[in-house]
Amino acid sequence: MVRGYQLKLYPSPAQAELINKTIGCSRFIYNYYLNDIIKNKTDTCLSKVKEIPNLCLSFPWLKEVDGGSLRISLFNLENNLKRWKKGIAGFPKIKTKDFGNSYTTNNFMTYKGKEAIRIDFKNKILTLPKLGDVPFRGYHKKTSFSGKIKSAVIKKEAGKYYASLLVEEEISLPEFQARTIVGIDLGIKDLIVTSYNEKIENSLDCLKVKKRIKGLQKALARCQPGSKNRYKIKLKLQRAYMKLKNIRKHQIHAITNKIIAENDIIVMEDLDVKGMYQTHSFAKRLTNIPFAEIKQVLEYKCKWKNKKLITIDRYYPSSQICSTCGYQNKKLKDLSIRNWECPHCKTVHDRDFNASVNIMFEGLKKYILNPQK
Ligand SMILES: [Zn+2]
Repeated sequence: MVRGYQLKLYPSPAQAELINKTIGCSRFIYNYYLNDIIKNKTDTCLSKVKEIPNLCLSFPWLKEVDGGSLRISLFNLENNLKRWKKGIAGFPKIKTKDFGNSYTTNNFMTYKGKEAIRIDFKNKILTLPKLGDVPFRGYHKKTSFSGKIKSAVIKKEAGKYYASLLVEEEISLPEFQARTIVGIDLGIKDLIVTSYNEKIENSLDCLKVKKRIKGLQKALARCQPGSKNRYKIKLKLQRAYMKLKNIRKHQIHAITNKIIAENDIIVMEDLDVKGMYQTHSFAKRLTNIPFAEIKQVLEYKCKWKNKKLITIDRYYPSSQICSTCGYQNKKLKDLSIRNWECPHCKTVHDRDFNASVNIMFEGLKKYILNPQK
């Protein structure tokens, strides 16, 4: 099983410059061959990998950076083209400075018989091709990885540097046992309501940062293009985004860890994750992304812990059905209605809790009909 680890890097000024250069060169390769594809009306670039050494002769600055990262940049383009051909993604876009701030490097054996990417948890040093030893922070309790590091993505975000390591680990899975089941409903006010009537509120810090982001965006729109002030606000905005991302990440891990520790079967609505990331409305993306993240995190954690994640049809009317008698209250559409009384059995429902109970039952039905799936 492949697992990801995120580290914060503290490169020296020279290392930081080399990282920036490598990111720039990776972006150059990507864009260069994407333009080539558009010009020659082809749909693959794999054969071009042999051309890279020649390209380095024409653009000598390409030779200054980790050569592996250039090849991977080309492979990434090929992958994006494949996804486009399969219809899962749009046609690849030219990478700009704002949306192409990382590079990937693979682990390999050096001629000295050492691995190119190594980690020393004791001294907090990550060794990377061409860059050498970079101090990092994170994973205080770890002393080593149980598996092999496959690759590293080096990323620059809001002026800071990070590495995501992909590590291939052997995990012995516990046997699956169906003892407990939970339904979860995702909402705006409460991020999660479970069928045990546990509510996890959308963190107040999140709301504060969201407000700040909105203010900064307005300020950015008022700025002169290319001005110093604009640059400053842009950096502040990037930092605010990162803060939001971190608060959320922390919250999502805490929630999902608890849900998985306490339950064997987890039921949720099937979300249109791809659509959520692609929506152009900023406000919508802000509310959608935590849902998409919760689902993704639950998916991989369920795999590690051998728990079952069941998704039910996203058009299943979970908030309209009375979980006591099964009556469907079709008049109930307005999201502002928090409580309602069932016209048939007179039970008074909390909208989200009732929905989560229905989601749980719907998932249970699915499980009983097909326990192996
Ligand atoms: Zn009822």
